[in-house]
Amino acid sequence: MRIELDLQTVQGSIRDIPDFPKPGVVFKDITPLLADPAAFSTAVDAIVVSYGRGKIDKVVGIEARGFIVAAPVAYHFGAGFVPLRKAGKLPYDTISETYELEYGSETLEVHADAFKAGERVLIVDDVLATGGTAKAACNLVEHSGATVAGLAFVIELEFLKGSARLDGYDYVSLLQY
Ligand code: AMP
Repeated sequence: MRIELDLQTVQGSIRDIPDFPKPGVVFKDITPLLADPAAFSTAVDAIVVSYGRGKIDKVVGIEARGFIVAAPVAYHFGAGFVPLRKAGKLPYDTISETYELEYGSETLEVHADAFKAGERVLIVDDVLATGGTAKAACNLVEHSGATVAGLAFVIELEFLKGSARLDGYDYVSLLQY
């Protein structure tokens, strides 16, 4: 799903960093976006209007940049915020999901009591790349007994075809590359 909003300010505030964190990767740096009040509020508003107020119970932010975008989205919805973190960071009982990366694997965790059964959850991250992280987040929400109402990303790297991993889920990306 794409939404029609004036996202020029958002687009203009994304900084490309070639060869970070490794050669061949163009890192999409959102720190200029976060530092620009108009761009930040527009990005948050664009996600909020994509999903209706009152329809989301919890907003999940994926460590670490996902936290920054997800928290104000949750506030606008009047929803709770749930952090999804790398292994070993959460203090209470967790459930975890391990998924493959291009090199090696990654584990994400969420607190075992983060969701009530049937809650409607929106998953938020800065970038949709291969979709492995987003799919792992969906699995964690569903293994917790909650429902994935949708996903939202500031940036989608379409050439990495992450959308294929999100087949059957409703998702929105504000900018596509
Ligand atoms: P993936 O699991 O491949 O979809 O990767 C998504 C995760 O990696 C997100 O949490 C992003 O923050 C990060 N990521 C992947 N590629 C990039 C990129 N080119 N620029 C910035 N962040 C990225």
